[in-house]
Amino acid sequence: MIPRLRPTLGLKEALALLPSFREDDVERFERTFAQTLGVDCALAYPYGRSALWSFLRAVGLHGDEVILPTYTCTVVAHAIVLSGNVPRFVDIERGGFLADLDQVEAQITSRTRAIVVTHLFGYPADLERLTAILARAEEAHGHQIWVVQDCAHSFGCGRPDRPVQRAPDVALFGLNASKLVTSIFGGVLTTEDPHLAERLRRWRSVDFHRNPLKGLRRAAYAAALFVAFDRRAYRGVKWLQDHTSLLDGATRAYHLDGEIRLPPDYREELAPIEARVGLAQLERYPWMVARRREIAARYRAGLSDLPGVELPPEVEGATYSHYVLRVADRPRWIMEARRAGIELGTVIDYSVAELPAYARYRDRPLPRAQAAAEQALNLPIHPSLGVDQVEAVISCIRGIATRGT
Ligand SMILES: *Cc1c(COP(=O)(O)O)cnc(C)c1O
Repeated sequence: MIPRLRPTLGLKEALALLPSFREDDVERFERTFAQTLGVDCALAYPYGRSALWSFLRAVGLHGDEVILPTYTCTVVAHAIVLSGNVPRFVDIERGGFLADLDQVEAQITSRTRAIVVTHLFGYPADLERLTAILARAEEAHGHQIWVVQDCAHSFGCGRPDRPVQRAPDVALFGLNASKLVTSIFGGVLTTEDPHLAERLRRWRSVDFHRNPLKGLRRAAYAAALFVAFDRRAYRGVKWLQDHTSLLDGATRAYHLDGEIRLPPDYREELAPIEARVGLAQLERYPWMVARRREIAARYRAGLSDLPGVELPPEVEGATYSHYVLRVADRPRWIMEARRAGIELGTVIDYSVAELPAYARYRDRPLPRAQAAAEQALNLPIHPSLGVDQVEAVISCIRGIATRGT
């Protein structure tokens, strides 16, 4: 079975689970993260959502409007609401997956205090246009509008001389096992602004506390990841997940799409064991991004001109957290691929504004995101895929597309 995602976990990460006698694992992780991503300062948090929640508090937002794409991970909206602010959703662009910047500009009001720019699936947003929009809005409304670059899917995407995380004010990273780089769980904020960094650090010491038992919990979870994503075990784990409820407990705390809340441990500092896994992953980072780009290029070459399949945009500087096709009859694709031993994913299969929990924030239809939510189908693109596996995915997809017509 070729899984739809697989964290790259090897000896380095296994060694990171052993006890450490150093006191500075988290600080080392922060420094290495900043160096690897080419920014001045990185601050570690227990989750990406916790980082966003604490950021909004640190810069004093409360009762303010925060603009974000409706086609994103629910946890981003949760963090906005739970920090006491109001999410304002915008639809996605035509022919892509990112926020439509015309709608971003149209949604800015005198109450707008922040914009979350999501570089979804590893595609860099158009920061030049965004800068122009911000300049006009700040001029019109006379106050600063904070920008959060949501890099949870992108890490270092963008032009090599201008990766998106180097834009002002902060960049947000999520580091759970489904992301490009993992620290078991975990989140990071980066910034180039030393004053802001100081402010965030002060708030972080108020917002978060240490739980000495967390390391053990995370070690157990990490060990389970090793087993679950082991090549030999994967089919069995998948079967348990599909046919029993044995594994629901492990994922329930994490997938909170039904209601607006954060996990019970969202205010417990990143554990040193997570920082050590993150350090091991950062060593692999250049290779992992290069491999994703290679596989995306291979898919593009192998899958062009298929009937009923819309390929994802080809954008320079994309890092491909996901390689996302759009098809009309998604369940058929998933079923047929599975028979060929390939697991396809449905990545983001909702538009946040359409979720019942967000009904009170929905003020108009956002049809492009809804369509993407119904059609998005992501292919395996993890760095550890072999050449023959990539070819197997291509021939499977070609077969399904051809049979469907
Ligand atoms: C995963 C993710 C985050 C942060 O997630 P956490 O699970 O809280 O670390 C933020 N934005 C997007 C788009 C994501 O996919």
